[in-house]
Amino acid sequence: TAIIQIENLSKQYGSGTKALSDVSLDIQEGEIIALLGPNGAGKTTLISVICGLVVPTGGTVRVGGHDIRTDWRAARKLIGLVPQEIALEPFEKVMNCVRFTRGLYGEGPDDAYIEQVLRSLALWDKRDAATRELSGGMKRRVLIAKALAHRPKVLFLDEPTAGVDVALRREMWEVVDRLRREGVTIILTTHYLEEAEEMADRIGVINHGRLLLVRPTSELMGEFGRKT
Ligand code: ADP
Ligand code: ADP
Repeated sequence: TAIIQIENLSKQYGSGTKALSDVSLDIQEGEIIALLGPNGAGKTTLISVICGLVVPTGGTVRVGGHDIRTDWRAARKLIGLVPQEIALEPFEKVMNCVRFTRGLYGEGPDDAYIEQVLRSLALWDKRDAATRELSGGMKRRVLIAKALAHRPKVLFLDEPTAGVDVALRREMWEVVDRLRREGVTIILTTHYLEEAEEMADRIGVINHGRLLLVRPTSELMGEFGRKT
C-alpha cells in the first residue's frame, strides 16, 4: 500500500484563500514525485498539510497508515522536511546540528548513522565546521542531513533550488539522485519543469489549489513533445 494516502484534501485559510481544493494522491514507497506549479499554486500548503503543520479544512492524510490529525506523533516520525528558508545555528558545528535534531524526535544518539548521512551528502569532512563557515550549497545539504537525522521514510523538499545558481541546482539534483538509490521516498516542489523532469519519477501539476494531473515523467514529457 501507499506510504502516503491523500484523500479529498482541501484548505481554506482564515483570509478566505482556497489554497487546496479536493486533492487526492497516493505516493508509493521509494518513488520521487515532483509537485510542479507556479507561485501561489498551493504547493507549500500541500506539503505543510501532509507534514501536519497546517490543519486542513477537509479530507484526510495518512502517512504509513497513521492519520496525520489523530496520530500525528507516529506520522511525524516517518517524515523529514527540508524547509525553503535556510535556518541554521551559525556557530553550531555540522555534526552537532544533526545530533540535536535527532534528539528533537526523541531518538537516542546514533553517530554511526549520522556519519553515514553526512558521508552520503559529502559533508563528513565538514562535520566539525560551524555552519556559518559553509557555502550556500553545503548549508542546503546540512538542512537535508537534519531532515534525515531521525531516519524518516519520506523526505519533503520545498523548492530545493529556489534562488540558487545553475551549478548548485545540478548539485542538488545529484544529492536527490543519491538519496533515490538509498530508497528514500521524496516529495519535492518546484516551479521549473526542467527540474521536475530531471529528478522525479512522477510529476503532479498543481495550480489554483487543484491537482490537475499526475503522470509518470516520461509520459508527461512525451505529451509535451520532448525527448526524455
Ligand atoms: P488560518 O487559516 O491559519 O487562520 P490566516 O489566514 O489567519 O490562516 O493566516 C495565518 C497567518 O498567515 C497570519 O499571520 C497571516 O498574516 C499570514 N498570511 C496571510 N496571508 C498570507 C499569504 N498570502 N501568504 C503567507 N502568509 C499569509
Ligand atoms: P506555492 O507554494 O505553490 O507558492 P502556497 O501554498 O504558498 O503556494 O500558497 C497558496 C495560496 O495560499 C496563495 O494564494 C497564498 O497567498 C495563500 N497562502 C499561503 N499561506 C497562507 C497563509 N498562512 N494564510 C493565508 N493565505 C496563505
